[in-house]
Amino acid sequence: MISVEEALKTILDFVTVLDKGKKPILNCLGQVLADDVQSSYDVPPGDNSAMDGYAVIAENIRMASVERPKILHVVGQIPAGAVTNTIVEKETAIRIMTGAVIPQGADVVVPFEETDEDKRKQSSLSNKEIGICKPLQAGSNIRQKGEDIRFGEIVLRQGRLLTPADIGVLASIGNSTVSVVRQPVIGILATGNEVVDLDKPLSPGKIYNSNSYSLAAQVINCGGIPKLLGIAQDDMDQLKSALHKGLDCDMLISSGGVSVGDYDVVKEVLAAEGSISFWTVRMKPGKPLAFGTFTRANGTKIAHLGLPGNPVSSMITFEIFVRPAICKMMGKKDWKRPVVRAVIEDSLRNKDGRRIFARVAVTKRGNEYFCKLTGEQGSGILTSMTRANGLAIIPETTVEVKQGNVLDVMILNCDLGGGI
Ligand code: AMP
Ligand code: MG
Repeated sequence: MISVEEALKTILDFVTVLDKGKKPILNCLGQVLADDVQSSYDVPPGDNSAMDGYAVIAENIRMASVERPKILHVVGQIPAGAVTNTIVEKETAIRIMTGAVIPQGADVVVPFEETDEDKRKQSSLSNKEIGICKPLQAGSNIRQKGEDIRFGEIVLRQGRLLTPADIGVLASIGNSTVSVVRQPVIGILATGNEVVDLDKPLSPGKIYNSNSYSLAAQVINCGGIPKLLGIAQDDMDQLKSALHKGLDCDMLISSGGVSVGDYDVVKEVLAAEGSISFWTVRMKPGKPLAFGTFTRANGTKIAHLGLPGNPVSSMITFEIFVRPAICKMMGKKDWKRPVVRAVIEDSLRNKDGRRIFARVAVTKRGNEYFCKLTGEQGSGILTSMTRANGLAIIPETTVEVKQGNVLDVMILNCDLGGGI
């Protein structure tokens, strides 16, 4: 048996970061930026008003107060998006809206609240004039040209994982497309004479294909693109032709057919068609795993990971081995799940020296994390995965876990509650 680390290293050593391509910015969320992005604009492009108010000259309102407002002539109005040629001079003001370009001459914006505008509206005072009730320093309420981003500045660096804020920054400098590392396409094949696809009647002895769908959802979740290759019977020829349909992918995964049963032909196909390592990995669930490569017609190689057929085992081996490979192909550097130390509220035994990934529900109470098994841990109990937001890690060397022991727990999903 090999360790989880040895198996993961072999897989990660084989896969490489994919090529890059330009795409519309909204299709790039969560992907890795392939080139530095430089701005061809100042943001904001010019000095503009941070408030609705009056653009005036600071020096001119030095003596203003509520009791003795400084009366100025209103010589214009600028809504956002408009510009004016009118110049603000001594004794004049221009009414200005938030975001509008500051007119020439003005060096401060006085917000409506610091003027007598309301009073004028309620009485019959002329709106051709405005009373300023407070002195303000030059520059107040003005956003400077380029204060967010300067022309020529590198705004986002290559290697960065694009966040919603990054997408906004790209838009703010007018970039509708951006260059990112390509998303890997993962071919997914189910195997087994007993497995039938959805929408088909379930005859005696058959089960629905859940693995292809849980695996495809996991692929989407970590940023890859799934390509479903259907279901192959436990038959060399069927399996070969199904896998050949996936040779245009960046990686192949299959479920089932890798244990020691009579019909476990994935191993045989890999042995006949490419290079192959059969692994029994020191982990539970997910002991049997096959890793191999197929050679495409053009001589390039594609990795194939044969995952176990049991629904929980296939999901957990995906999490431990396929997800990191997808992250590496996408150019991600930091793909490790957060790990918390949590008090376990159950006890369990580790009989055969494997690393157990136990499905748990993690909660936070006060400053402490607690975790509880999500029920029966059989590797066919897929609903135990739906109740889990984490995997508690029981080391190979730990024989017994007692209630109250503290364990490392890998957090799989923060959106499932538990206050994490
Ligand atoms: P195998 O590794 O092929 O012996 O499969 C182990 C167990 O997983 C068997 O009980 C299978 O019926 C089940 N299984 C295999 N493939 C699937 C699948 N695609 N969906 C759901 N269960 C499966
Ligand atoms: Mg099978």
